[in-house]
Amino acid sequence: MNILERFYNGDRMALSKIISFVENQSADYRKVLARLYPKTGKAYRVGFTGPPGAGKSTMVDKLTALLVNGQKSVGIIAVDPTSPFTGGALLGDRIRMQDLTNREGVFIRSMATRGSYGGLATTTKEVSLVMDAFGKDYVLIETVGVGQVELDVVNACDTTVVILVPESGDSVQAMKAGLMEIADVFVVNKSDREGARRIVTELEMILDIRRKQGEWEYPVVSAEAVNNKGIDVLLSKILQHRKFIMEHHHFERHRKEQIKAEIKKIVEMKIRDIVGEKVLVSLDLDEVTERVFQGQDDPYSVGEKIMSRISITNSG
Ligand code: GDP
Repeated sequence: MNILERFYNGDRMALSKIISFVENQSADYRKVLARLYPKTGKAYRVGFTGPPGAGKSTMVDKLTALLVNGQKSVGIIAVDPTSPFTGGALLGDRIRMQDLTNREGVFIRSMATRGSYGGLATTTKEVSLVMDAFGKDYVLIETVGVGQVELDVVNACDTTVVILVPESGDSVQAMKAGLMEIADVFVVNKSDREGARRIVTELEMILDIRRKQGEWEYPVVSAEAVNNKGIDVLLSKILQHRKFIMEHHHFERHRKEQIKAEIKKIVEMKIRDIVGEKVLVSLDLDEVTERVFQGQDDPYSVGEKIMSRISITNSG
């Protein structure tokens, strides 16, 4: 049996290999994705983001357990900050998830950010497609919560959960960090800690301004992930959001926007490849650089001249 056949038969090793293949952007990985694509579109993707230490991993673990108990299969993508020194994922294979890894229907993958903007590893979306094609009911994407506007999360997910904690300072801070705009569901975790009630109240007040009749309610869930409290409420809010966006066609619109963005990204990557492989290698960059340096030419005109000589058709 070849690897794709094994993949379609539910072989986890085959899933793991194909994910690595895609993550490493090995030769022809796009062809593999094209083969898998018709099988995608069924998994529901939920993103989790928030400051480091907020309890994202703990929450994803507990939520996964709940989903699995409900006979759902789950793929988890844990995006780790890349160490500038080793180039590898800082947290590596997360120890905390070990009790989940052996559970039937759960597949976990850690990915490094590789410095890409937005906190999501460059191929996170593609990896989620692979899990989708494998037949996962849910793909949970946990992102490095660095407090920047994580628009990538919105692009890769159907529902975005933002997790805050009493220690993360006041909720205005979260608003500044751009997290408010991307959240569909808010969680105030570590409700056992002092200040949790206050942050819930503050959030509710801010959200009241945003809430409109007949629109999504932007719920705030109080949780204690470590003690498995509030996880059932969180799941019900995620499911409510899913139902809401289906009924209001937001889901369809959002997925179409994602497809559009995906096509643009693929074309841009292809063009970059062509420029790298065919244009820049066929050009004596040192020579033109020298000409510009000597004042015989300027970079803008050089760029224009190069562009006029090439036609962007891809034979490869
Ligand atoms: P992440 O960095 O956002 O993924 O956070 P983790 O899930 O690794 O959690 C960070 C720490 O907070 C761990 O030591 C957890 O045990 C702890 N933690 C998670 N949830 C709670 C909670 O509800 N209350 C308290 N007190 N600690 C929690």
